[in-house]
Amino acid sequence: MFDNLDTVPELLKNFQFQTGEKHKFLGDNYRLMVEESYDTGVIIDNYNMVLSVQDMNSAKQKEFVLDMWYREQARDVFVDAMSTAIVKAAPYQVSFPELKIYRLEDRWGSCSPKSKRVILNLELIKTPKECIEYIALHEMLHFRFPNHSLSFYGALGTLMSDWKEREDMLNRKYRLL
Ligand SMILES: [Zn+2]
Repeated sequence: MFDNLDTVPELLKNFQFQTGEKHKFLGDNYRLMVEESYDTGVIIDNYNMVLSVQDMNSAKQKEFVLDMWYREQARDVFVDAMSTAIVKAAPYQVSFPELKIYRLEDRWGSCSPKSKRVILNLELIKTPKECIEYIALHEMLHFRFPNHSLSFYGALGTLMSDWKEREDMLNRKYRLL
């Protein structure tokens, strides 16, 4: 293994939220820089992820502020990916879904045709946009094809010819538990 660090699932890393620690965002590694400030938040500055908190000694506060920032970013990026997927999958008469974002340990997303709901894993925000777009389209197609049937993969291949490479990247570089 060439890059052992990258193969450890993010969910298994025991983050300390200290300056110098590596955190992922949209497929890139950023160097955490913790700063003390009355206004809390996260700013991306080149390859630094600047985390501002009121109490630098509180790991809980740092974890919370970073988590909220990931959730905000996920909301924006996932809504874009879902919008694209809805347009792409339109020929298959898919439903218009409700989007939920949860942190899941064992899957990137799920689709419930009955409740017209798509769940995307918050952890996806750490992976490249191409991977997020792939999962969004994959889940949308489950409205029409509930199982991983040949028809499902036929539609997927028609709408996204390189879906397999995107899936391989997720499995290789961004494993869940
Ligand atoms: Zn599936």
